[in-house]
Amino acid sequence: MQTGTIFNIQPFSVYDGPGIRTTVFLKGCNLRCLWCHNPESWQIAPQLQFQEEKCVGCGNCFKVCPKGAHQISERGHIIDRTLCVGCGICAQNCYAGALVLTGKRVTTEEVMARLLEDAPYFKNSGGGVTFSGGEAMMQLEFLKELLIRCKEAGIHTAVDTAGHFPFEQYQKILPYTDLFLYDIKAYDPETHRRLTGVDNHHILENLPLLLQNGAEVIVRVPCIPDGNWQDMEQIACYLEPLPVKQVELLAYHRLGEGKRKSLGMEMETFPAPSVKEMEGLLETFTKKGIPAVYNR
Ligand code: SF4
Ligand code: SF4
Repeated sequence: MQTGTIFNIQPFSVYDGPGIRTTVFLKGCNLRCLWCHNPESWQIAPQLQFQEEKCVGCGNCFKVCPKGAHQISERGHIIDRTLCVGCGICAQNCYAGALVLTGKRVTTEEVMARLLEDAPYFKNSGGGVTFSGGEAMMQLEFLKELLIRCKEAGIHTAVDTAGHFPFEQYQKILPYTDLFLYDIKAYDPETHRRLTGVDNHHILENLPLLLQNGAEVIVRVPCIPDGNWQDMEQIACYLEPLPVKQVELLAYHRLGEGKRKSLGMEMETFPAPSVKEMEGLLETFTKKGIPAVYNR
């Protein structure tokens, strides 16, 4: 039986594929998107989040941390992330809830027991389970076993991926994946590298290969003024000949900012697009015959 690290199981999700779904969030990601809404997912190992505004200054964390990672500096209470090993002892002793350890080791058996509780909702709504992240593909053997177990239980499966892996890795899960939610973040390789830390050659090669191999795919495009906006025409031209089920244009928003602060990460912000800008963008795609929608 495989074990893996997850950071959330979210029931009643309606944005991650058809029907009512339960989304399993796996830890670990091989991209570093500047606008990431789930930066607590980047490392596979558990990560400590500190919400300073909840801290009541009781000092428990200073006493219990075996590494001396909680310190007082001129900025007040800080966590030296180079010392923290993610043991979670301070979070267990923070009764104010200011410290939270994100990420938990679980077996596929434990995840399936939780997912099967929601099976009646899947059947009644045409829903199922979506594996997201982070990047679901980072824990491939764990993901594959979960997909197989879901299919054995008659559950519709979706995998949310940014596509940055050799295609052979996708072949391992293709037979058990009913739907891919596939991100295209930029078309120009240099823009892609600047925004995500990696180039996009695997990403642009894998999408046609998945489709040629019979996969059903919904493409998701984050739409970020001053980020990837100038690539939208090229992304539309790339998608035009491809038989994708749908293209979802996702308007940038700033929900990840608080999380980044709690993880001690630097923040980069972009302007949010207006409704008019998103409508114009939608037209760029639909006038090419692409089945596009946009979500705010
Ligand atoms: S998670 Fe462990 S090592 Fe990290 S700050 Fe808390 S007690 Fe210290
Ligand atoms: S244990 Fe929690 S509330 Fe107490 S000082 Fe540490 S972070 Fe603040």
